[in-house]
Amino acid sequence: MKNSASKSTPLPDITLDDIGGLPEEMKEEIHQTLSIIKDPKRASQVGIQAPKGILLYGPPGTGKTLLAQAIANEIGATFYSSSGSAFTELFVGVGASRVRTLFQNARKQRPAVIFIDEVDALAGKRKEHGGEESEKTLTEVLVQLDGGNDNEGILFIAATNRKDMLDEAFLRPGRIDYTFNVPLPDTNGRREIIDIHTKGRLLADEVYASLDVLAESTSGFSGAELSSLFETASKRAIRDGREEIGKGDLDFAIDRTILGSTSRALNDP
Ligand code: ATP
Repeated sequence: MKNSASKSTPLPDITLDDIGGLPEEMKEEIHQTLSIIKDPKRASQVGIQAPKGILLYGPPGTGKTLLAQAIANEIGATFYSSSGSAFTELFVGVGASRVRTLFQNARKQRPAVIFIDEVDALAGKRKEHGGEESEKTLTEVLVQLDGGNDNEGILFIAATNRKDMLDEAFLRPGRIDYTFNVPLPDTNGRREIIDIHTKGRLLADEVYASLDVLAESTSGFSGAELSSLFETASKRAIRDGREEIGKGDLDFAIDRTILGSTSRALNDP
């Protein structure tokens, strides 16, 4: 097998506290879901089944991967992370065989989280998806998700920016039990994310004092873009031999992020 879709992935030390801007009711639901997973016997006494599958959907860079990592850490699970595109192949049966191997490997390492980003590439609507290979791969995903007792201790988490593209059969309860919308952060959410990404960085007083305004003026920015702002500003300060991020560094980073060319700017300032 040429790709590493079926191997476990090192799990960064991410907790739910490292994710900013999640709506309160969503955090509440996630905590409840985690308590069910952690104590399935108690949950089943009150008639609640541990979830088998969770879908996270929302715009790029809003923290869906972080959330999957935090959930895996929270339940002490081995993490199997892959992208839906790692299963799309030309030869009929190859994608399906990768899906099977992935689940088989995860079952040897319970508790395990299987995280599939861009799941629309793997579980897209059949008629739009087309092709025998993708049909077979999707069927295998459904078979594996229906694995019954075999799936005890396995949590499947899928993420997508295109929920509308997903096959109905894939979304059926018992396969996907919880669906969470992970939205772009609002002003308060951006402020939380800014706090997370400025922790441990030295900021000039002037920058520190402007963080509320920054949160207000970055409407439409994702968590990934806010993180990249401080990463870019930090690199510029270091490059100029300064320890503190100054106003000029942040303005530079904002301009570059708005222009969408952060990395190019650093290579060619
Ligand atoms: P994609 O849909 O493109 O796969 P994603 O929603 O999975 O994106 P992540 O990969 O989780 O986004 O985020 C990328 C990086 O952006 C994170 O490692 C983190 O540094 C930062 N980030 C994104 N969202 C948040 C958030 N809500 N809180 C804190 N940091 C965030």
